[in-house]
Amino acid sequence: MLDVKDITVTYNNKFEALKDIELKVPSGNIYGIIGPNGAGKSTLIKAMLDLVPHSGSTLFNEKPVKTQRKNLSYVEQKSNIDTTFPIKVIDCVVLGVFPGLKPWQRPGKAEKDKAEQALKKVNMYEYRNRQISELSGGQFQRILIARTLVQDSELIFLDEPFVGIDITSENIIIELLRELAEAGRTILIVHHDLSKIYKYFDGLILLNKTLIACGSVSEVYTAEHVQEAFGTNILVSPDALKKEADSHDQSIYQ
Ligand code: ADP
Ligand code: MG
Repeated sequence: MLDVKDITVTYNNKFEALKDIELKVPSGNIYGIIGPNGAGKSTLIKAMLDLVPHSGSTLFNEKPVKTQRKNLSYVEQKSNIDTTFPIKVIDCVVLGVFPGLKPWQRPGKAEKDKAEQALKKVNMYEYRNRQISELSGGQFQRILIARTLVQDSELIFLDEPFVGIDITSENIIIELLRELAEAGRTILIVHHDLSKIYKYFDGLILLNKTLIACGSVSEVYTAEHVQEAFGTNILVSPDALKKEADSHDQSIYQ
């Protein structure tokens, strides 16, 4: 169980980006973090990880998240990652095994094997000796997921992992994340494509500076909550989305 207790983030001691966020996410679930631009979605992840100053606390299995860094993975919003850094794909993934390893240090064979297995899972094995700068956005995102796989952490945070990537990469990633959740991992994904929420998530965290709702997708994605978060400009009607989800096979994994 991930337990967020009363998080407030005030940037530069004056701009309140998040206020009094209280929520719980049960283990073994994939939760989407949704809300308009500037709602504080990325800030919430950073506060949970203790990467920005905040009040309140975040517990995972009753212990502070910040004391469990080895047991968590965080894939930042893509724009924040320097893909021009000269490093080979395989070495980038191996860094997931040893977060402290420097690019010029040599990993052992066991680590390399583990990284190669992960690359096979994301269909990127044949790219193992390329530079990361040569990859497309979707391929690079798959490398970051391979890295998450070798880290084998129980708590996984992904910030907009599907922005600007191809649908093949998106499907590969979401299927692997589903496998991880089924194996008991707890996964939080900042996501803005509302049309996919029933397919991808077990639950949602809807926010706009304050928490609007947290729970199952149908509990959270109601007309009232969406209006509260996004204003009158509703992009995807909650009723239409629910109807569509009910009429189709709800799972893309079967
Ligand atoms: P989202 O991810 O939902 O788009 P963010 O968490 O990035 O939103 O940002 C929430 C608000 O906090 C925005 O108004 C943003 O401009 C502001 N903000 C984000 N990071 C900082 C920072 N380091 N310093 C000051 N303000 C910030
Ligand atoms: Mg963001």
